[in-house]
Amino acid sequence: MESSAAGFVKRMYIMHVGKIEMPDVNGMMPGTREHGPASLPVYCYLLEHEKGRVLVDTGLKNEGLGVVGEGEDVVSQLAKMGLAPDDIDYVVLTHMHLDHAAFMDAFPSSTFVVRREELKTAWWPDHFERGYLFAHYAATRDFAFIEPRDDEVVDLFGDGSVQLIDTRGHSRGHQSVLVTLGEGRRFVIAGDAAYFECNLEDWVLPGICTSSVDAERSIAKLRQLQGCGWKLLFGHDSGQESELRIAPDYYE
Ligand SMILES: [Zn+2]
Repeated sequence: MESSAAGFVKRMYIMHVGKIEMPDVNGMMPGTREHGPASLPVYCYLLEHEKGRVLVDTGLKNEGLGVVGEGEDVVSQLAKMGLAPDDIDYVVLTHMHLDHAAFMDAFPSSTFVVRREELKTAWWPDHFERGYLFAHYAATRDFAFIEPRDDEVVDLFGDGSVQLIDTRGHSRGHQSVLVTLGEGRRFVIAGDAAYFECNLEDWVLPGICTSSVDAERSIAKLRQLQGCGWKLLFGHDSGQESELRIAPDYYE
């Protein structure tokens, strides 16, 4: 694909789409001294680009450890912005765990961008693989998918504004999203390659990890970007939320 002049995302919305009530947070940050119950935010992101709208992740449902308030789910929040599922051109999934893929089937006319390895794992996980809930995507088999291979960098619009990078380790086909807004403001939607700031600061591996070695390499990759001035958006960091602009507010 030939890159045209550098482009940018016009607006980025960070939607808070519910919480996970963890009985003991240590399960998510093994090896640390953090213990006890924790309420962890779950996010979806809407990127508006002149060539199309991109939704990153689809959130969770009010089931299991998930708590989703009335009108808080991703479809309701898009509706409040005047958008129907049909208005979403691409759905990028960082990965297919139950707090990221729960509303996949609400977007039948979008093109999904999911790593091939992630799709294969979600559809036929090994027994130790936790976090996938088949019911969330059983109806999506015939949806349109772009299935990047493991280590491919995807430049979604060919202008450098939305790039998907391989950050596997938490899951087999995990990806993070590099977003460039106007005037060079740069964000990394880390997903669960880094749930929390401590994953980067202290080299803490995500509690759910399909490969520790890969997870550490992904953390190294994110640290490198952070060091180069990219703002990291962590997957479930309640401490970061107060410093973020949450939808209906936005970044541009
Ligand atoms: Zn998650």
